[in-house]
Amino acid sequence: MSDKFDLIVIGGGSGGIAHARRAAEYGANVAVIEYGPLGGTCVNVGCVPKKVMWYTAGHRQHAAHAGDYGFDMSIGGHDWGKVKERRDAYVSRLNGIYERNLGNSGAKYITGAASFVDPHTLAVGGEHYTADRIVIATGGRPSIPDIPGAELGITSDGFFELEERPQRVLVVGSGYIAVELAGVFNGLGSDVQLVVRKDRILRNFDVMLSELLMEAICKHGVALDVGVIPASVEKTDEGLVLYSEDGRSFGPFDAVLWAIGRTPNTEGLALDKAGVDIGDDGFIPTDIYQKTNVEHIFALGDVTGRAALTPVAIAAGRRLADRLYGGMEGRHLDYDLIPTVIFSHPPIGTVGLTESQARAEYGDDIKIYTSAFVPMYYALGEDKQRSMMKLITAGEEERIVGCHIIGDGADEMLQGFAVAIRMGATKQDFDDTVAIHPTNAEELVTMR
Ligand code: FAD
Ligand code: NDP
Repeated sequence: MSDKFDLIVIGGGSGGIAHARRAAEYGANVAVIEYGPLGGTCVNVGCVPKKVMWYTAGHRQHAAHAGDYGFDMSIGGHDWGKVKERRDAYVSRLNGIYERNLGNSGAKYITGAASFVDPHTLAVGGEHYTADRIVIATGGRPSIPDIPGAELGITSDGFFELEERPQRVLVVGSGYIAVELAGVFNGLGSDVQLVVRKDRILRNFDVMLSELLMEAICKHGVALDVGVIPASVEKTDEGLVLYSEDGRSFGPFDAVLWAIGRTPNTEGLALDKAGVDIGDDGFIPTDIYQKTNVEHIFALGDVTGRAALTPVAIAAGRRLADRLYGGMEGRHLDYDLIPTVIFSHPPIGTVGLTESQARAEYGDDIKIYTSAFVPMYYALGEDKQRSMMKLITAGEEERIVGCHIIGDGADEMLQGFAVAIRMGATKQDFDDTVAIHPTNAEELVTMR
C-alpha cells in the first residue's frame, strides 16, 4: 500500500471525515489518521450521547405532566446503567457505520497518533506518510482549571463514563455543556448545584435566553450561585467540597463536573516541524478558506476555535474539498448566521445577532419584537413553563438579523427560520407567512 497520498487528514471526527470522504469522492487519494474511535467528539463524547441523555431526562418531565392529561402514572426508579449500556451500543454501531462509510468512499484509515516530521510528512508509530496536502482536524478536549484538587472532578468525557447517577452534583461553568448536563442530572433526580463565575449563565447569548433559562432551572430545583471563582476542591469524609476565591464553600458533593470550555488538540502534532503557527489561545488560525500560514496545510473544526459545532466542522470540511478537489473555486464556509441549539430544559434555539450585538452594529436602527407565552401543552396543569421569542430587525426594510427562542420545540423550530433569515427575510416576510395553528412556532410569524 502506498504511503504517499494526495491528502492526509489528521482526525477522524466530524470535520475530518466529512472532508476526507468528499475529497475521496472527487477522486483524491486520501488517508485519515485517527487515534481514538471514529466519529470524534460528537459521536463518542458529545452531541450523540448527550442527546440521548437529554431525551432520557425529557421522558421524566413528560411523565410528570401525564397526570394533567388524565393518566394515573407514577415513576418508579430509573436505571441509568441500562441507558448507558444501550447508549454505548448505539455509539458503537455509529463507529462501525463511520468506518464502513470511510472505506466505501475509498479513503484509507490509519490508526494511531499523527505528528509532523516535516511539512509534507507525518509519523504514526514507526511509519511515515507523505501527502501533497494535509488537513488538521484534531478537535479539542475538555479544559480543567489549574487549581488544587481539580483532578477530583470529572468533565463531560467522565460524564459519559458514569455507571450510575451521582446524587449530589456540582456543575462548574456557564456555557452549553454546563446547562445541558446540569439539566440532565436535575431532570433525572440529582441534587444539582450550578456555579458560574460571572453574573449569569450563557453570557454570550441574548440576555432574554439566559434570564429565562436561569428562572426555569431554579424553578426545577437547581441551586444556582453566581460570582463563584473556583479556588480548590477537597475530598472530605462527606464528599467533595469546592472552595471559591472569596472564601465560600459548596458541598459536599458526590461528583464535581468541570464545564468551562475546551482546549484544542495541538500539542502532540509537532506543528513547529511543519512551520504551522498557533494563536495565543492555542487554536490554529485560518483564513476563510481554512488555510493556515503554510500553503498546503489547512485546519478546520474545533481546533480552529471558531463556532465549535459539528455541522460547522462538517460544512467547512465539505466546502474545502469542493474547492480543492471539486473545481468549485472560491467556495468556503460563511461563518455568519450559524444557527445553534442548546439542549437545556427548556431548549434554546438562536441565530444571528443578540440584542446588544445588534445595537453595537446598527445603533438605534433596530427594532425588537418579543413574545412571551405559556404553550398550550401546559394549559391543563400546574406547571406553566413560559416560552419566549425575540426577533431583531435592522434598517427600514426590517431585515431580520437575530432570532432567539427559548421554550418547548425551539430545537426543532429554528432550522427552517434559519434558512429564511439567511436568505434575507424581513419582518414583512414573516408577517406574510400564514401561521400553523396551534403550535408554538406560530408566535414567530404573528409578533406585533
Ligand atoms: P472532533 O470531533 O473532536 O474530532 C477530532 C478527532 O481528532 C478526534 O477523534 C481525536 O481523537 C482526533 N485526534 C486528535 N489529535 C490527533 C492526532 N494527533 N492524531 C490522530 N488523531 C487525532 N455540537 C453540535 O453541533 N451539537 C451538539 O449538540 C453538540 N453537543 C456537544 C456535547 C458535548 C458534551 C461536547 C463536548 C461537544 C458537543 N458539540 C456539539 C460539539 C461537537 O462535538 C464538536 O464541535 C465537533 O465534534 C467538532 O468536530 P471536529 O472534527 O473539529 O473535532
Ligand atoms: P463554552 O465555551 O460554551 O462555555 C464555557 C464557559 O465557562 C465560558 O464561556 C466561561 O463563561 C466559563 N468559564 C471559563 N473558564 C472558567 C473557569 N476557569 N471557571 C469557571 N468558569 C469558567 O464551553 P463548554 O465547555 O460548555 O462547551 C464547549 C463548546 O462545545 C461550546 O462552546 C459549543 O461550541 C460546543 N457545544 C455545543 C453544544 C450544542 O450545540 N448544543 C453542546 C455542548 C457543547 P463566563 O465567562 O461567563 O464565566
